[in-house]
Amino acid sequence: MSIDLSGRRALVTGGASGIGAAIARTFAEAGATVTVADLNAEGAEALAAEIGGRAWAVDLSDTAALADLRLDVDILVNNAGIQHVSPIEDFAPERFSFMLRLMLEAPFLLIRAALPGMYERGFGRVLNVSSVHGIRASAYKSAYVTAKHGLEGLSKTTALEGGPRGVTSVCIDPGYVRSPLVEKQIADQARAHGIPESEVLEKVLLKDAAIKRLVEPSEVASLALWLAGPDAAMVTGTSYVMDGGWSAH
Ligand code: NAD
Repeated sequence: MSIDLSGRRALVTGGASGIGAAIARTFAEAGATVTVADLNAEGAEALAAEIGGRAWAVDLSDTAALADLRLDVDILVNNAGIQHVSPIEDFAPERFSFMLRLMLEAPFLLIRAALPGMYERGFGRVLNVSSVHGIRASAYKSAYVTAKHGLEGLSKTTALEGGPRGVTSVCIDPGYVRSPLVEKQIADQARAHGIPESEVLEKVLLKDAAIKRLVEPSEVASLALWLAGPDAAMVTGTSYVMDGGWSAH
């Protein structure tokens, strides 16, 4: 099945690395014009040059700067995010606010900026890269779990408001994906559990998974492509889990 995104304009936040980069490449291969939005200006520019797209160097935690934005895109992928591993009592309140700005308020503001154009054209796809932590909590990830649970609610609300005007909104909930974010997780979890990094996947991250390997970014990108394509027109207000059975317990 080939999915044609010719003529579509897509914006992928956090597009310079990991899952976002895989989605940007896959959408560009399918014919979309992709804007790579990222804090990492060099990375965004390099990928944009590679895929014939545009780069937007932006700090999405600076939400005041996003308040009056208007975006002309057909597909918005809210993907930028960071992780932390810390008990609540040791977690700085400013860090909690920062993560909620980046991972919940910024997606709200980008959706808010994109909807008027999507409504005018009667078409829009909002893909929110949440996580299995959007539907299932883990200890020591208070801000991450809170932001991702919030993103699931925002996505459903967008679906309800956008549906009658041609806009769908869906969350993608990956388990552990091979990316720089997970590499940092492995180091943090090894410290937190006092075990070597080589044992973190087996003993911590993938302990509950039915399939004991990391998800590949390209697998998440294939799901995103299907969700952006014509066969997913009736898929909205829901979440797609891709976690090798991690959340089945
Ligand atoms: P990654 O670290 O490879 O990429 C994240 C990108 O976001 C980077 O390019 C980074 O520069 C960008 N970014 C960070 N802060 C930013 C800011 N303030 N403004 C703009 N851009 C910023 O991570 P990834 O694994 O590809 O994760 C992408 C998304 O997928 C995140 O939302 C993450 O929560 C989610 N996710 C990842 C995993 C996983 O195991 N890797 C699992 C589930 C969900």
